[in-house]
Amino acid sequence: MPCSKIDAAGTATVTPSGARNQAQGQSHGRTQAEGRSVVLDGITHRYGGAIAVENVNLDIKGGELVSLLGPSGCGKTTLLRIVAGFLRQSEGRVIVGDQIIDALPPSRRAVGIVFQNYALFPHLTVAENVAYGLAARGAPRTEQAAEARRLLDLVQLGHAGARYPRQLSGGQQQRVALARALAIRPAVLLLDEPFAALDKNLRLDMQIEVKRLQRVAGVTTLLVTHDQEEALSLSDRVAVLSNGHLEQFAAPTTVYDAPESLFVNTFVGSANAVPGVLLGQDGDGPRIALDAGGEVVARPLARPIAPGARVTLCLRPEHLRLTEGQEGIAGIVEMALPLGPTVVHEVRVGAGRPLKIAEPRLGGGSLRPPGTPVRIAVAPGLASAFPAAA
Ligand code: ATP
Repeated sequence: MPCSKIDAAGTATVTPSGARNQAQGQSHGRTQAEGRSVVLDGITHRYGGAIAVENVNLDIKGGELVSLLGPSGCGKTTLLRIVAGFLRQSEGRVIVGDQIIDALPPSRRAVGIVFQNYALFPHLTVAENVAYGLAARGAPRTEQAAEARRLLDLVQLGHAGARYPRQLSGGQQQRVALARALAIRPAVLLLDEPFAALDKNLRLDMQIEVKRLQRVAGVTTLLVTHDQEEALSLSDRVAVLSNGHLEQFAAPTTVYDAPESLFVNTFVGSANAVPGVLLGQDGDGPRIALDAGGEVVARPLARPIAPGARVTLCLRPEHLRLTEGQEGIAGIVEMALPLGPTVVHEVRVGAGRPLKIAEPRLGGGSLRPPGTPVRIAVAPGLASAFPAAA
């Protein structure tokens, strides 16, 4: 049998016939398939008349780990389902390697999928779960057993092959789900919020584990998450989505340090968004007069803005310092929060929301009681200015 159906868990467990041959050929050499490139070319999807994603273009390199990051409803799962083949896009193409895969059913797309809820088969042992995809495509029993052993060793569960899923912890079950997805030597690994059900410490362990396995397997990976820290720490590149649109696709540090839109700046990391006017640009960069008083030199503008236009300036809390001097933005401390290594102050400056200021305690940040008059200094060249919403 060249391929089987998608199982109840939605896991595409069988590779296309070409990949099957390749996988069978590799099964003796035990080398993992090289990750293939994945291109989303002008993907639009409508549910009925409502647009869920619009003209999304992503060019993912073979072996890359890319996160789809955005708030609930922005279209992450829709894109993942389109790549998996569970959903046929209204417009655009999905290209894996050099093949347009739109006409292929999920079972022939060479994708491995890991869901939030593990979706293991309760009546199969851990080893049988891992070998499920190989069994479904008729691989010899000896090969199934050897491959299950190899992958369980890889996820550090070599001792647990004979157990049933209910005898494992949540984190262990998620490792099995990962091993099962990798067993078919997928060209693409799709991870749909795979850590969401795990508690914080386990989550961190699993994130590190997935990154390690993804590297070892060299498999191109798409991770859906609404957790920005997860996206920033795990990904080679992050695709930030808002309302069905791709806002930015770049390395994590670029997304954080050089956001291309107000949405990206405020969704990724935290930011004080304050109103002001662009005075003009000189050698140092764009100069902004804040409504609350004071001038700030911002980083180069992501898109041109005319001098005199109203802007929203995004000041990250760690770009601000409380000073003793007379320079800077004047304000009154409203709240002081000692957060372990950091001290956070909320300072009222004018009528808007108070500004958050985060200072390292070792760097001299000390608690100022509420009511203390303070000045706020802004690190030059780091804040981002965007056109003010009309
Ligand atoms: P979440 O993080 O909450 O899972 P998401 O970013 O994955 O959200 P999608 O599930 O892709 O978002 O949904 C994108 C948009 O499409 C949303 O407005 C959603 O309400 C809509 N949508 C999703 N599935 C359907 C469906 N089967 N029928 C109609 N509309 C849908």
